Amino acid sequence: MEPIRMVDLVGQYTKIKEEVKLEIDKVLESATFINGPVVHEFQANLEEYLGAKHVIPCANGTDALQIIMMAHNFPKGAEVLVPSFTYVATVEVIALLGFKPVFVEVYPDTFNIDIEDLESKITDKSVAIVPVHLYGQCADMDRLMAVAKRNNLKVFEDTAQAIGAEYTSSDGSVSKAGTIGDAGATSFFPSKNLGAYGDGGAIMTNDNELAAKLRMIVNHGQSKRYYHDSIGVNSRLDSMQAAVLKVKLKYLDGYNEARYQVASRYSEAFSKADWITPPVESEFSTHVYHQYTMKLADGVDRDALVNHLAAHDVPAMIYYPVPNHLQKAYAYYGYKEGDMLNTEDLCSRVVSLPIHTEMNDEQQSFIIEKVLSFRS
Ligand SMILES: *Cc1c(COP(=O)(O)O)cnc(C)c1O
Repeated sequence: MEPIRMVDLVGQYTKIKEEVKLEIDKVLESATFINGPVVHEFQANLEEYLGAKHVIPCANGTDALQIIMMAHNFPKGAEVLVPSFTYVATVEVIALLGFKPVFVEVYPDTFNIDIEDLESKITDKSVAIVPVHLYGQCADMDRLMAVAKRNNLKVFEDTAQAIGAEYTSSDGSVSKAGTIGDAGATSFFPSKNLGAYGDGGAIMTNDNELAAKLRMIVNHGQSKRYYHDSIGVNSRLDSMQAAVLKVKLKYLDGYNEARYQVASRYSEAFSKADWITPPVESEFSTHVYHQYTMKLADGVDRDALVNHLAAHDVPAMIYYPVPNHLQKAYAYYGYKEGDMLNTEDLCSRVVSLPIHTEMNDEQQSFIIEKVLSFRS
C-alpha cells in the first residue's frame, strides 16, 4: 500500500504533469515571469468559474484578506467580527491594520459562525464581518447578509478552504463561496483545494469600484506607473503559479468531487461508532471537504487516538487546538477562558483525517479500520 499522507500532491501531479509542464514551459520560453499573459488567462477563467465580475490575483490568502480591508479606510479601532474558530490568518490581518477583532462563536455542528452570537456582539464601532467557510462549507450567508444589511456592515468572506463550494439562497439562487459578500478572499497554498506549487491567492468581488481600488492596492497603490494614489503593497501571483492554477482549475470540480467521495465513505463508516460524530453538512451549502473533521465524544482521549493512528503510519491533525481568542498574540484584547464555550469545546474534541484527491480504497479502508480499532 502507498504510504498515507494528509495530502498527496505528488500523486495528483503525476496525473497532470504533461499539461503543467507545457504551461510552465510557455512562461519560461517567454520570460514573462511577472504579470505574464497566463496570469490574465487564469484570472478570466476563475472569474468565469466563480461567476464573479472581478478576480484580483495576489500573493497569498492572507494578503487577499489584508488588501480587502485596506481598501475600506476603516478608522483605527474599528471592530471587525470574526469567528474565533479559524486559522490565525483571518484574525491577524485585522489586528495588523489596527482594527479590533471581535471574536464570535461558531455552531458546534457545522463549525461556522453563530449568527445569534454575531448579532449580539455588534456595537456602534462595528464595520465588517468576516465569515470563514470553514473546512469547505459555507456559513449561513442568508442570515448573515441580513444581519450585515440591518447594521450597515461590510461582509468579507474567507473562502480559503471552500473554493468551489456552492451556496443556495432561500430564493433559490446559487452562488459560489466568496461571491456573496462585498468581497471574498481565497488561498492557493499548495494543500488547498485549488493549490499552486508555491504561494498564491485571490480576491473576488462584483463591485466595480472596489475592484479598481483592490487592483491599485496590490500594485503599490499605483493608478498609473509611478503615480501612487494610496498606500499599497506588493502582492502578485507570479506567472509560474498562474500557469499551474490554470491547468488545475479545469479539474477543480473533479477534485472536490473526489474529496466528497472520501468524506462520504468516512462518514458512513463512522456513523456506526457511538464515540465519533462525523461532520454535519448544511442544507444550504455543498461541502468541498478541505478537511474531514470529526468530533470525539466526552471521555475519548484524543491524544491517544492520534498516537494510535501514528503507530500505524496514519497521520491525523488538530485544526485547531487553541481558539484565537485564547492565543497569546491576542491576549491584549482581554478575552478569557469560558468566553466562547462552543469554540473552546471544539478545540478539545476535533480531529481531522487524511483527505485528498488521490486516496484509494485500500488506503481508506486501512484508515477506517485503524480509527475504529482504537475503541474495540
Ligand atoms: C490557508 C488559510 C488562509 C491563508 O492563506 P495563505 O495563502 O496561507 O496566506 C486564511 N484563512 C484560512 C481559513 C485558511 O485556511
